[in-house]
Amino acid sequence: MNRFKGKEIQALLTKEQIEKRVKELGAEITHAYRDIKDPLILVGVLKGSVLFMADLCRAIDMPIELEFMGVSSYGEATKSSGAVQITLDLTRPIENRHVLFVEDIVDTGLTAKYLYGNMRTREPASLRLCSLLEKPSKSKGEVKVDFLGFTIPDEFVIGYGLDLAGVYRNLPYVGVLGSDV
Ligand code: 5GP
Repeated sequence: MNRFKGKEIQALLTKEQIEKRVKELGAEITHAYRDIKDPLILVGVLKGSVLFMADLCRAIDMPIELEFMGVSSYGEATKSSGAVQITLDLTRPIENRHVLFVEDIVDTGLTAKYLYGNMRTREPASLRLCSLLEKPSKSKGEVKVDFLGFTIPDEFVIGYGLDLAGVYRNLPYVGVLGSDV
């Protein structure tokens, strides 16, 4: 059990487990895109993907470009409502380019579905999704995670980019918040 500011946090995925899996994902992605000509465009979905993105891009052994999309979803702090607003857009066109979305977690899949719909109109050469985490219990609709770090139980997790009301993103592991100490 870890403690952070008087709260108990139970680690679900340790720093070491994450490091190992991110390296493996980097190798999978490098292999999958080995024949493309232009640099792969990684699109990180802010803010949750930032830590994962920073580690993942260094595990990919090929030329890449980094872009970010800002997204905010409405609704309760610990539940996805599916109503998504773009708060920051890409800085350049992606037409005819290979694009890989980088997400922290796919829960209902509604955020990813919305982003896919939005990106497809820009006619990329390909569009795929890499997510560190996925909760399996929900219906994902049409969204498929092409490169997945871990499947986790249907619990609200924090750390390694994931927040609760804006905090806990800087924990180096993924955990579940326990009771107050
Ligand atoms: P979806 O649209 O797939 O239901 O949810 C995606 C977004 O909901 C994630 O990018 C994340 O911001 C938030 N989310 C879903 N589950 C969790 C969770 O367990 N912990 C945290 N911190 N955010 C979550």
